[in-house]
Amino acid sequence: MKKTKYPIIWEKNNFAIKIFCSIPNIATGILLKAADSHFIIDPGDGILRDLNKELKTAEILKISDILVTHGHHDHVGGVWSLLTYLKVMNKKTPLVIHYPKGCIEIVHIYNAFIDVYKNNISYKIYLKEIDGTKAFTSKKVLIQPFPVIHKEYISDHKTTRQVPALGYKFTYLNTKICYGGDTAYCDTLVKNARNSDLAILEAGHDEDTPDEMHMTLKEAKSIGESAKEYYLVHVPE
Ligand SMILES: [Zn+2]
Repeated sequence: MKKTKYPIIWEKNNFAIKIFCSIPNIATGILLKAADSHFIIDPGDGILRDLNKELKTAEILKISDILVTHGHHDHVGGVWSLLTYLKVMNKKTPLVIHYPKGCIEIVHIYNAFIDVYKNNISYKIYLKEIDGTKAFTSKKVLIQPFPVIHKEYISDHKTTRQVPALGYKFTYLNTKICYGGDTAYCDTLVKNARNSDLAILEAGHDEDTPDEMHMTLKEAKSIGESAKEYYLVHVPE
């Protein structure tokens, strides 16, 4: 399979997305831009380096929302350094971290951060647990979360269990970007990706038989073709 070339950059009607990378078991990192507002999606390892190449410090300090699809290390590995950087650079405006209910990784990272730095944090951090599919708006972007199916292996490396996992559909003015996060083929993703201006779809399962953890190339493409444009990400390298 051909390697996905990162970064992936897409823009329409002042709504833009930059996928710095999305490599299974290594890191994902995504920046969404609506006019002058920025959102970080799935801050995996390396997000701080990538943000600093892309934005001025003042712009990074203004970021108000982080959206997490699930707690796997390749999607949240950069949260600690990002929170610490914002503190060191004296961020003053609040930061909201949106994450799926039951995603203990985010809760533990947050609790550890608060415990380590205690009263020495210059900005407020709000954890916003998402339970259900209620849409919300931030900086004029409508954010529609939707549940997806994603699993992980337990310690025997054979048995799997479901992890709390979301996809997000972002609408700015009339432009729609759908990001499924890590997911098996599922109806909620099919529905949200359809007619989007852009669908970002993982194709992390490198065999032809479907599983309940990631999508095959064929499954991801079939969903992608229902959107106006699509990119396949999280493809094993
Ligand atoms: Zn995952």
